[in-house]
Amino acid sequence: MNAPDQLRLLAVHAHPDDESSKGAATMAKYVAEGARVLVATCTGGERGSVLNPALDRPEVWERLPQIRTEEMARAREILGVEQEWLGFVDSGLPEGDPLPPLPEGCFALVPVEEAAAPLVALIRRFKPQVVTTYDERGGYPHPDHIKTHDISVHAFEAAGDPDRYPELGEPWQPSKLYFHMSFTKPRMVATHEAMLARGLESPYAEWLAGWDDSKDISHRVTTRVPCGEYFELRDAALIAHATQVDPTGRWFACPLELQREVWPTEDYELARSLVDSTVPEDDLFAGVRSGVPVP
Ligand SMILES: [Zn+2]
Repeated sequence: MNAPDQLRLLAVHAHPDDESSKGAATMAKYVAEGARVLVATCTGGERGSVLNPALDRPEVWERLPQIRTEEMARAREILGVEQEWLGFVDSGLPEGDPLPPLPEGCFALVPVEEAAAPLVALIRRFKPQVVTTYDERGGYPHPDHIKTHDISVHAFEAAGDPDRYPELGEPWQPSKLYFHMSFTKPRMVATHEAMLARGLESPYAEWLAGWDDSKDISHRVTTRVPCGEYFELRDAALIAHATQVDPTGRWFACPLELQREVWPTEDYELARSLVDSTVPEDDLFAGVRSGVPVP
C-alpha cells in the first residue's frame, strides 16, 4: 500500500449522540492535529427516548427524528468532524419480559452482508487508515450497537477485497480496527474515589455496586489516547444532543479538572492491525504515520 497523504479516521456509531459519548475527545484531538475524521451514523435514532426531563414535552416527541438530526449537526460542528448517515432505522431498546420482537425493517434485523454494504462503500470512498467501533457486545446491549460492531468488522474485512462488493468502488483496506473500551470499572472506581477524597458527592456508588465484574473489559485495553484537553469539547458535543442527555446527570458530575487528573485518556482495544505497532500504544495512528506529512 502506498504511504497515505493524510491521516483519516472513520468512527462507526449506532445513533446520533453515540459519537459524543464514545471517543469524542479522541476525534477532536485528531481534528486539531489536522487529520480528517468522519463519523458514520448507522441509524437516525428514531426510536430513542427523551432523556432530558426539561425537554420531555409532546411537541418535542412529535418532532424527535428532525430534532435529532439538528442536534447531530451541532455536535458535528463542535467536534469539527465530518459525518454521514448510513440510512438504517433505529431498532429501539427492547424492554420487558419476555422481550418484545424487534420492529420490522429495523437495522438490527437487516442481514450483515446487506447492512455492511453502505459502510464498505464509505470506507472505499473515504479511505481511512483507522476505523473505530464497539466491541462484540456492543459496549452495552442495544441491538443496534451489536449490529454496528458486526457490520464494522465485516466491512473492515471486505472493503479491501476486490472480489467482495465489486460494484461498490475500488478496494481500500484500512490498517487498524479499534473497539471502544472507555467505560471500565477501574476508571469508574478511580473517579469515584477521587471525588470522595475531595469531599465531593459521587453519583457513582450505585453504579459501582451493581457492576458485574465478570463483564469487566479493562484487561483488553491496548491503547490509551491522551485527550484531556478536549474534554470540554466532548461534553459540549454531548450536551448538543439535548433530548438525549440530562445536563445535570451523572455524566457531568465530576469536574473536568479532576477527570484530567484521574483519567486523562480515552481507551481502546486494538482488535485488528495490518501494520507494525507494539501495544500498549497511545496513538490510534501508531504504525501508519510514516509518509504522512506532519501538519
Ligand atoms: Zn446508541
